[in-house]
Amino acid sequence: MGVCSTLRIPAIAFAAAPALPKRMQFGHKFAGKVEFSGSFAQRPAISHVLFDFDGTLSLIREGWPEVMVPMFVEMLPRIAEETDEQRRQLCYDDIMRLNGKQTIYQMIQLAERIKARGAEPKEPLWYKKEYLHRLGERIGSRIEDVRSGRKSREDFVVFGARAALCNLAARGARLYLASGTDEADVKREAELLHLSEFFGPHIYGAKDDYKSFSKKMVIERILRANSISGEQLLAFGDGYVEIENTKQVGGLAVAVASDEANNGAGRIDEWKRQRLLGVGADVVIPDYRDHEPLFDLIFGQGDA
Ligand SMILES: [Mg+2]
Repeated sequence: MGVCSTLRIPAIAFAAAPALPKRMQFGHKFAGKVEFSGSFAQRPAISHVLFDFDGTLSLIREGWPEVMVPMFVEMLPRIAEETDEQRRQLCYDDIMRLNGKQTIYQMIQLAERIKARGAEPKEPLWYKKEYLHRLGERIGSRIEDVRSGRKSREDFVVFGARAALCNLAARGARLYLASGTDEADVKREAELLHLSEFFGPHIYGAKDDYKSFSKKMVIERILRANSISGEQLLAFGDGYVEIENTKQVGGLAVAVASDEANNGAGRIDEWKRQRLLGVGADVVIPDYRDHEPLFDLIFGQGDA
């Protein structure tokens, strides 16, 4: 891949790194935090790798909960005996439980909550449009900043992700991208960040006909179209849907518990970590700084 041969991996993977913590769990190989759950085992047969987009590779939509949560709180009718904090927590939990699925499912959930409180909700699609409008106000300037060159696209790529993609491509893995964000937006943002070339035609996102797409369907299609078993699938995600779907077919799931507001800090987002371990993640990483030793281990080229 052209982009990889010209990529100066150390510059991208480590230049912005602060003093790296010495903490590690598997011998001396890792520069940052890499956590393994009891289910981890090497998978030399891995041939296909699936990535989520937002929070896993891209930070263009970083901070989206700060738009969605207040909108839910604003739209949800009040009930007596409920504190503001309880309302916010209810909305937050609904949103995060569905993180990784298409946005419309979060809006369906909101409409159901509104109805359960005795009010008449609007169509879920109305809420989705309103949310995307509000989010657009937050992220529109980022897209412009990258497009115009005012900001580096690397500011919006999860730390080390580009080098990790090159690494996987060099190992011969076939790469797939599946996102709950609308497909046209995912393609546009992957293009903007120069990530689309890693995935070729295999970039999938939400469709207007929302029942025609899910990450589960993408996974099933990968297995069927390539006549492979789940054993050969590796997936990276920061949402619980992709981790759970991967584990359901017997794949290896790496949770990217990225601290999106502090890219490159190497900190694990504890909320994501808990959720993703809870649905069976085999490995937890904050970003991709340790892609080389980690992939050596996964593909059976390092000692476990
Ligand atoms: Mg995500």
